[in-house]
Amino acid sequence: MKYLFLVFLMNLLSQYAGKPLRRDGSYPKSFEDIKNEIAGYTDIAKAIIDLAVHGKAQNRSYERLAVFADTIGPRLSGSKNLDAAIKYMFSALQKDGLENVHLEPVKVPHWERGEEFAMMLEPRNQSIAILGLGNSVATPPEGITAEVIVVASFDELHKRAQEAKGKIVVYNEPFISYGETVQYRVRGAVEAAKVGAVASLIRSITSFSIHSPHTGGQSYQPDVPQIPTACISVEDAEMMSRMAFRGTKIVVHLKMGAKTYPDSPSFNTVAEIVGSKYPEQIVLVSGHLDSWDVGQGAMDDGGGAFISWEALSLIKDLGLRPKRTLRLVLWTGEEQGGIGAKQYYQLHKENISNFDIVMESDEGTFKPSGLGFTGSAKAREIVKEIMTLLLPINATDVYDNADGTDIDYWMRDGVPGASLHNDISKYFWFHHSQGDMMTVQDPNQMNLCAAVWTVVSYVIADMEEMLPR
Ligand SMILES: [Zn+2]
Repeated sequence: MKYLFLVFLMNLLSQYAGKPLRRDGSYPKSFEDIKNEIAGYTDIAKAIIDLAVHGKAQNRSYERLAVFADTIGPRLSGSKNLDAAIKYMFSALQKDGLENVHLEPVKVPHWERGEEFAMMLEPRNQSIAILGLGNSVATPPEGITAEVIVVASFDELHKRAQEAKGKIVVYNEPFISYGETVQYRVRGAVEAAKVGAVASLIRSITSFSIHSPHTGGQSYQPDVPQIPTACISVEDAEMMSRMAFRGTKIVVHLKMGAKTYPDSPSFNTVAEIVGSKYPEQIVLVSGHLDSWDVGQGAMDDGGGAFISWEALSLIKDLGLRPKRTLRLVLWTGEEQGGIGAKQYYQLHKENISNFDIVMESDEGTFKPSGLGFTGSAKAREIVKEIMTLLLPINATDVYDNADGTDIDYWMRDGVPGASLHNDISKYFWFHHSQGDMMTVQDPNQMNLCAAVWTVVSYVIADMEEMLPR
């Protein structure tokens, strides 16, 4: 007996040799243990996939989004539509039987584009399709009529600074990638104003166009005059560029009635499935409820918001309750620079050690291939293992890194983060344009996205240990 105990003890000691004993007296799991633990979720993952893709919940996130987007429409920060959207979601989440449904107040910017139009007057009359950029000032009531200078880059603008004075700068920058090219939308007005231009018109940030302008955020700089700024279609930018290259004089009349109002009350919308064992620990899934004031905001970010809601619905429908709390957050004011998320972070960061992972889907809900992930090498190994559970729908990849304005604050402070990785080849065709309507969304693709989102968030919320930082 004594001998047997000794053998057992020696065995135990050798098994845990070199491993630190933790405060609660337990030993951290080996990767082999974690792999086995994850493999134990195979049946649950299958049940989630079945329910979302083939079962009773098939097409639910799409259908819910269609009713929402058709009823409410676009949801600009500070607008009545956004208020209506928040009220709608508050009651929908309650009706769905989710827990702790509540609103967290946030002040958001309130800008409205008002009436706007542009007309080319020389060399001939042609209407130019525009969308004023977020935060732009108006033109004087009579509008601005000025000659155009077309440039392909900031470099060219700086070289031709003398010529730009008193003119409307048209940027005809080539589309390289959203991340790179968006600089023209964000800084175009400031750079043009620095060389004395009276307005700037920016080729829309997209790789494909059927003459649709794409709006978005832009920012002014202190000590630089604020000039009106709008985006124009790829077609009009290229046309004016060709004309200018031939030496043709171009004159444009621009009128914009944009107005900035005092910040407006808004809310982040929150719902939960409270954890059974570690309710204070949080797995956060999210998308943003606000949008630009064009189209229906169905893709950006209706899809992300509604697959995030779907994750909680699917888990509830299966009668599951993970050990940790699964928290849905529908952000407000994302398009104005992650305003809702910033305030949420400031209010909740004192509990940062309880945040297991922050997830956001804000780059489309097309055919999913896996996750973007930000976190330590150890956490990445665990997430890769979790993704093997998604083999039945072939969405097992883990890419560097997670991407999401609203989860950035947490990731910068070391909380693991994940974003949905999906086929974004057509995303920027519709992004921030009148084309962002339900027609872009596909029910089957949304089912698959919801399955990925649910399996990942459930398993992470239910595993015995939090992801290592
Ligand atoms: Zn978005």
